[in-house]
Amino acid sequence: MRSDHRGFGDAEKPGCTGVNCIVGIDDVLRRLPKVDQLLAQRDVSDLINQFGRGPVLDWAREAIQRCRRQIQGGELPDEVDGPRLLERVVASLRQLADGEHVQRLQTVINATGVILHTNLGRAPLAAAAVERLTQTSGYTNLEVDLSTGRRGRRGARVRRLLARLTGAEDALVVNNCASATLLTLQAVAAGREVILARGQLVEIGGRFRLPDVFRASGAMLCEVGTTNRTYLEDYRQAMGEQTAAILRVHRSNFSLTGFVSEPTLQELSRELPRPAGVALIDDLGSGLVHSLESLGIDEPVVQDSVRQGADLVLFSGDKLFGGPQAGIVVGRRAWIDRLASHPLMRAVRCDKLTLAALEATTELHVRGDLTAIPVYRMLMQTESQLEDRARRLTAAITRLADGQGGPVPPMQIAVSQSQIGGGSAPGHVLPSRAVTIAAAHLDALATALRLGQPAVLARCHGDRLWLDMRTVDDAEVETLAQRVVSAGAGRHLQGDRGDG
Ligand SMILES: *Cc1c(COP(=O)(O)O)cnc(C)c1O
Repeated sequence: MRSDHRGFGDAEKPGCTGVNCIVGIDDVLRRLPKVDQLLAQRDVSDLINQFGRGPVLDWAREAIQRCRRQIQGGELPDEVDGPRLLERVVASLRQLADGEHVQRLQTVINATGVILHTNLGRAPLAAAAVERLTQTSGYTNLEVDLSTGRRGRRGARVRRLLARLTGAEDALVVNNCASATLLTLQAVAAGREVILARGQLVEIGGRFRLPDVFRASGAMLCEVGTTNRTYLEDYRQAMGEQTAAILRVHRSNFSLTGFVSEPTLQELSRELPRPAGVALIDDLGSGLVHSLESLGIDEPVVQDSVRQGADLVLFSGDKLFGGPQAGIVVGRRAWIDRLASHPLMRAVRCDKLTLAALEATTELHVRGDLTAIPVYRMLMQTESQLEDRARRLTAAITRLADGQGGPVPPMQIAVSQSQIGGGSAPGHVLPSRAVTIAAAHLDALATALRLGQPAVLARCHGDRLWLDMRTVDDAEVETLAQRVVSAGAGRHLQGDRGDG
């Protein structure tokens, strides 16, 4: 059949000479299982129940194809028989199914020490928010006022709570802060100019770059000042007939230091003459609603922006607010009404589940019950609490490894630095504690931790794996210990090449 195959026809291979070999390949290929035969296997029909027939059929073809390539590549001995080939193909199919299974959205243990890890879904929800999600999964009063029976405003209560919390006249909730920025620019300034300092012309991440957002919104960007210094006078000179708004964007993922200067929001609001129709917009990103100054974290607070005269303040629901992904806009009623009635609003509105989780989180903020919000709980932990958690983790790992008669991995408790992340307080590190584990095969250990249940994400640094305690909940310690032991941490020992 094929004479152009590589490897198998290699005459130098023992027991494999030219013509015989090609005949051998065809013989072996004929022994490959057919798709129907594969689907009739017990293991495979279990997979059909789990994933559905379509995907399993695709994997079956792929698995047969893989095995065919192995035969043609000379990777299998001539004498391999039908049953062994079937076994091989089923194993390969199972591997494809496992690969699919690990892709599903699932809970992970975050041992990276980055509190708002964008890749891990940013803020974990408060228990009260999770409960509210469950309660609102069926029919809800999303757009019905139960007291009158008439049509109600979507998210009416959470909007009221957000306005109360931030001291603003009104509030609006959309999908995320990026859509809040887009909606605001389009509703306030399409076809007109928005003044922005050059030092604030930022990329937020994930290709969200302000010049592109302007283009998409139809608003025209009017840059003023220089990268490092912009004066009130620059804004004054740029103001004209075409001006629709002044935008301030928080530098949430980098800092400018040295010879820098910019007018404050208060100066922009009070000292820059601005016609009534020109909006002052403050894009804060993180949206802190309780000062973290006592922790040495210097992030702007939403209430300050409102008080200092911003017409619209934009922030995320899932950064330091500690709720679900959402974009929150608070500010003057007339401007909020303008956003709410813009056609784009329909495209960026959120569903009942987001509103439910956000409402429950906002209630906690209004009550001042900060320890009920995981992000705040993690931020406020003391070093001695983190040290204590690290000790409990090492003790649990030792107990479990001993109990299984296996080696106890070489562990140390080390001082580490955790981060807020998620575009908040760039460069700010929080002193933390980590359990570090020495491993010769660090990648293998990290992979095993990622692929188990629940998945564990940690940092690799030097020749050690770092499990940072700031982002691990007390309730997760025992599970994390089990995962470390079952991932074979003791077997990835220094010097142990895993062949013992
Ligand atoms: C993070 C951030 C955004 C985008 O927020 P998302 O909720 O992620 O869409 C916008 N502006 C600033 C200043 C930010 O830091």
